[in-house]
Amino acid sequence: MGKMIIVASGKGGTGKTTLTSQVGMWLSSLGYLTVLVDADAGFRNLDIALGLESNVVYDYSDCILSEMDIDEVLTKSYGCENLYFIAAPQSKATSDFDGERTRKFWDGLKSRFDYVLADAPAGMGDGFMFAAEYADEAIIVSLAEAPSLRDADRVIERLENCGVETIRLVLNRIQPSLISDKIQMNVDDCIDVLSVPILGIVPEDGEVAKALSQGVAAAKDRIGAGQAFFNIARRITGESIHIMDIDKPQTLWQKIFKSHSKRRERIL
Ligand code: ADP
Ligand code: MG
Repeated sequence: MGKMIIVASGKGGTGKTTLTSQVGMWLSSLGYLTVLVDADAGFRNLDIALGLESNVVYDYSDCILSEMDIDEVLTKSYGCENLYFIAAPQSKATSDFDGERTRKFWDGLKSRFDYVLADAPAGMGDGFMFAAEYADEAIIVSLAEAPSLRDADRVIERLENCGVETIRLVLNRIQPSLISDKIQMNVDDCIDVLSVPILGIVPEDGEVAKALSQGVAAAKDRIGAGQAFFNIARRITGESIHIMDIDKPQTLWQKIFKSHSKRRERIL
């Protein structure tokens, strides 16, 4: 039986769709059969992040409201061998879905795939509940700023009430220079606010927009978002990879070590 992981946030625009698509690509490249579900009915855009917008024919309402089989609503990624996608309906609300059929849908995916990632809409509305009530784990994506963290805290509380036991945090769009200038909060302070374990830290990186526009994974051959998403995928699979405090001042020796070390992939 696979694992169903909801990717959620309090505020919009924190990077949920970006993380779902990028981590999904890396999970599949690590050999795990992975399906990404766009839970943002009405405002779907995960298909675009995966470069699959012209390949989508059906969505999960065809499976939950009609009698279509799960296999018929799956869209296969052409770039990644083990990656599949299921689109959100454009005009049907998830609040109309029958609970029993919704459970059957998620259970059906978990029985076929190693990982089921649900890209939830921001906040705690119907689309969020559509996935939250059936999730085994959650990834909260937040920016390192007080409003984003405060709203994330409420989402964490709701997930706990839904019985989700493993809830982990990803801090996205981190810029050490903004942390030094006290514009962004440092990583330790963010973790203190939310008191959930950290799953990863993703730097602000211009390569993200480029990767999303091409529907591909951001390269991991340099210290950037691509490397961070790769490490998040590996941590999801249970690998233990150290997370370095990228916001801490570094000595000259640490900087030299970091730029030359073959183990630099371990920092994000
Ligand atoms: P959400 O799904 O939470 O609403 P998105 O994943 O759509 O957020 O991301 C919002 C915007 O932020 C997108 O334009 C995306 O390219 C950008 N973005 C996300 N993560 C990063 C990052 N680490 N570096 C630079 N831009 C990013
Ligand atoms: Mg989104």
